Amino acid sequence: MTRVAVIGAGLAGLVCALRLAQGGADVTVFSRGTGGLHLTPGMIDVLGYAPERVEAPGETLAGWVAARPEHPYAQLAGAPLEEALDWFRGVAAPLRYGGDLAANMLLPTAAGVARPTAMAPAGMAAGDLRGGRRVVAVGLRALKDFFPAYLADNLRRAALPGGAAVEARHAVATWSPRPGADVQGHYFARALDEPGARAGLAAELRAIVEPGETVLMPAVLGMRASAEAWEDLCERAGAPIAEVPTLPPCIPGMRLNLLLTRALGEAGGRMVVGPEAVGVDGSGGRIDAVRIRDAARVRAVPADHVVLATGGFESGGVELDSYGAVREPALGLPVAGPPGGGRGLGPRHLDEHPLMAAGVRVDDRLRPVDASGAPVWGNLRAAGSIIAGAVPWREKSGEGIAIAAGHRAACTILEDT
Ligand SMILES: Cc1cc2nc3c(=O)[nH]c(=O)nc-3n(C[C@H](O)[C@H](O)[C@H](O)COP(=O)(O)OP(=O)(O)OC[C@H]3O[C@@H](n4cnc5c(N)ncnc54)[C@H](O)[C@@H]3O)c2cc1C
Repeated sequence: MTRVAVIGAGLAGLVCALRLAQGGADVTVFSRGTGGLHLTPGMIDVLGYAPERVEAPGETLAGWVAARPEHPYAQLAGAPLEEALDWFRGVAAPLRYGGDLAANMLLPTAAGVARPTAMAPAGMAAGDLRGGRRVVAVGLRALKDFFPAYLADNLRRAALPGGAAVEARHAVATWSPRPGADVQGHYFARALDEPGARAGLAAELRAIVEPGETVLMPAVLGMRASAEAWEDLCERAGAPIAEVPTLPPCIPGMRLNLLLTRALGEAGGRMVVGPEAVGVDGSGGRIDAVRIRDAARVRAVPADHVVLATGGFESGGVELDSYGAVREPALGLPVAGPPGGGRGLGPRHLDEHPLMAAGVRVDDRLRPVDASGAPVWGNLRAAGSIIAGAVPWREKSGEGIAIAAGHRAACTILEDT
């Protein structure tokens, strides 16, 4: 059996590991911590801004990558991305992801922004604002991370295509799984997995909602049985309900993380969270083992293939030193970017930060390459935000790149074995 070590347990690492395990490889994920999924809203952004808001990501991508040969999508747009998203839709079926590359949905964020995204669970897709909508934003009194008045106010000003508008008001429900206390989102989510708990909330919603309105609720409607909880609440409340992701930690991202890690275990993969990859041993252009630091010792873990999915600056996949130099700390790979060589940081938070495009450059089989374009190691792949050339937060491309690259890295390994 081919032994594969995947480094990093974000969306890219989990997708890659699961696809490999399904393909019969002996996979172990080593990760210093949990990945970004717990912090992200569970939507699959493929391309949201280029730089204007993108309506049709599939169509836009073709021309967009032609002008950006160093963007990760230059290797991934087209068939690899489409195959990866089809695979993802199947794997994530319990969460009922809808949407595709033909058209971005415009889903409300907790700040009342209409966010372009390609795929989302049915409970969130129900809030699609294209064409306009009448909504009532309903907060939960015990949940302090969701502000229905602010959401409704901003949604009334949302810029929608074709002059469509949102009519919005707000209300607050008092149902709580722990009456008298402030309650975090995951308590609500776990409580609402139980059908009995949903009756009280549904009764309040029925009294609040007016005919023709969609209820916008914080995305805490279930954890392990979220699709069933959402459907049941819609039925009991007698109205369409759409989930809006809250501030991090984000329940929809946690649901996806749970689903992928469980599926990985069922497919025979292993996950070791805590240890850190600190290097590799190899000869003749191939890696023989990954060096893993576990508490105070470093051990060599033999591997036939290695996938680096350590993320961007947020997760320590790349680091910036005080001289402005970017490095890849885990395996010491050559790093590309930022373009033009400068520090690449704009003065304000929402400015352009070209530095965020720094990472490792890869070839068409996602093998990290050196300055001459030659693979550094023949059996090393990279996947996700560690790949140079994208600015995911600005482009809204992070999940599309993570899924396409994780899936493609796994497929090229399976082809080689
Ligand atoms: C808070 C947040 C919000 C985001 N919002 C958006 C958005 O709105 N739109 C968008 O398109 N993108 C967004 N992104 C980016 C997008 O989510 C990421 O691009 C995508 O999830 C990439 O996942 P990844 O698997 O490459 O990396 P990550 O999810 O960052 O995972 C990297 C993993 O590697 C592990 N790791 C790092 N170094 C080592 C090491 N040496 N040894 C072992 N393990 C290691 C980390 O612990 C982590 O588990 C957001 C990311 C974050 C964190």
